[in-house]
Order: sequence, then C-alpha cells, then structure tokens
Amino acid sequence: MNIETRVKQTLSKMKLNKKERILIAMSGGKDSSVVAYLLKKQGYRIEGFHIDLGMGTYSKRCLEAVKELCKQLDIKLNLYNIKIEMGSSMCYIRTTIQTQEHGKGLKNCAICGVIKKWIMNKEARNLKVDKIATGHNLDDEAQTFLMNLFKGSLQLSANSGAITKNVKDKKFITRIKPLFYIPEDEIRKYSKTKKLPVVYEKCPCALDSYRIQVREFMNTLTTKEKENIMKNFEDISEKIQKLKPENKLNYCELCGEPSRNKICKMCQLVKKG
Ligand code: AMP
Ligand code: ZN
Repeated sequence: MNIETRVKQTLSKMKLNKKERILIAMSGGKDSSVVAYLLKKQGYRIEGFHIDLGMGTYSKRCLEAVKELCKQLDIKLNLYNIKIEMGSSMCYIRTTIQTQEHGKGLKNCAICGVIKKWIMNKEARNLKVDKIATGHNLDDEAQTFLMNLFKGSLQLSANSGAITKNVKDKKFITRIKPLFYIPEDEIRKYSKTKKLPVVYEKCPCALDSYRIQVREFMNTLTTKEKENIMKNFEDISEKIQKLKPENKLNYCELCGEPSRNKICKMCQLVKKG
C-alpha cells in the first residue's frame, strides 16, 4: 500500500472532521513537509507553524524551506521567532540550562523537545486551532519506545500513539502524528519524488549519543521488524498506561500551561536558578 493510502487510513482512524483547523508544526525537514503536503492534498484545513530557533545558517535554511512550501501549497504560515519571543536562541537557552546544576547531563534534543512542545501548545491555543500535527515517523516512534524500554522507563511511552491519549483539557491541544506508521526511508523517497523544498541534513545540535546508538541499531532492522515493535507496543499499550501512577492534568503554577506536575517541564528547565 502506498504512503498516501496509509496516511489516509491513519487519519481516518482518528475520526477527524474536515472542518477542523490543523496546525502543522513544520521544521523545514522532510517529515513535517510531507505531512503538510499530504494533508493539503487530502483536503484538510491546514496552516503552517514554524519556530525559528535562531541557530545560524541552519535555521535560516529551514525557514526558507518552510516559507517556500507554504507558498507552493497556498497555506498560511505562522512564525514564532525564539530570539524575539524568549530573548535568545535555542543554543543559548539550552547551554544556560546545561551549565546549571539541574540541567547537568540533560541531552540537547531532550531540552529542545520540551521547549518546542511548550511553545507549540501555547501558540496553537492562541491561534484557536483544533489539532497540532507533527512529522514523527515509524523510526522515531520505535526508537523512542526502545529507548524507554532499555532505560527501564516504559511508563514514559504510556501516552504515545498516532493521536495523544488520555488528555482532554481545554488548554491542551491534541497532537496527531499522521506518519506514525510510515518508515523514514519511504518518507525521504516520497519527498524527493515530489521535489519538496526541504532541508535534508540533520540538526547540527542533535548529538545525543544514546539516541544515535539506538538509531544505528534500528538501521539494521527491516521495515517489518520496525512495524512489529510498534505493533507490540500497541498490543500492550493499555497495560503500560497502568504503570503511570497519575494521569491527571494540572496547570503549571508558574506559567499556567497544562502539566502533570505542579511545575511544568519547561519551567523546571528554564526558571530554576
Ligand atoms: P524533533 O523534535 O526535531 O524530532 O521534531 C519533531 C517534530 O516537531 C517535527 O516532525 C516537526 O513536526 C516539529 N518540529 C521540529 N522542529 C520544529 C520547528 N523548528 N518548528 C516547528 N515545528 C518543529
Ligand atoms: Zn510552566
């Protein structure tokens, strides 16, 4: 079955309404660009959202790629400039955290991921959209699942899925992953066939050695084996959810954003002295 049909199936299982407004979190990379392209092609009401992380020429190229694709698809692009909104680039924010006691040993991608999710939810809510779509693919998901498994922290995978589970809250915008079942190779090929304006190189700060090691191992697996990892995950998903002690959503005491703890992950990172 081709990628278009499989994405259509994934989306139809989510029972989305074609009138819903979906904000595509566009990094400028192949995955989120393919999400924008396919959702537009399949008749969804989409808009783009890009966070300019202020990381030199890499960020400039990503921004140009996103602008070009939005122009080609004739969709609105919402921009968030981290230097303007938060006062410094992602590199500076991240290094500041890592040089403090509470941030020692935290990986670049982990910090950047928390900050991006916080921004996405807040901005999506301000824009009053119904869903956020990201470019996470089968390889990303299998990788994260295996990493949690290897670390003995399977409960961290509890809410993973093509659509966010267990969160119904007016301040939390549901996130969807239309490429959840699609292997990375296929996405790359599709993006090249369609000649999408995309930055193919990896983020220069993606230096998490453990993730790289797991990715290298994953590269030795067949697509069927990767699919089996996620099939097994879905089979035991309900049991994993029971490993999570508390599933209730609160609001962060510092920033007011939805959080499972008194202080959200973002504020734990950036506000601690
Ligand atoms: P990453 O955290 O880089 O693995 O990216 C995961 C997903 O987050 C991507 O597939 C995009 O949908 C979204 N994303 C990553 N970086 C950005 C960005 N700079 N602006 C908007 N969305 C992004
Ligand atoms: Zn907070």
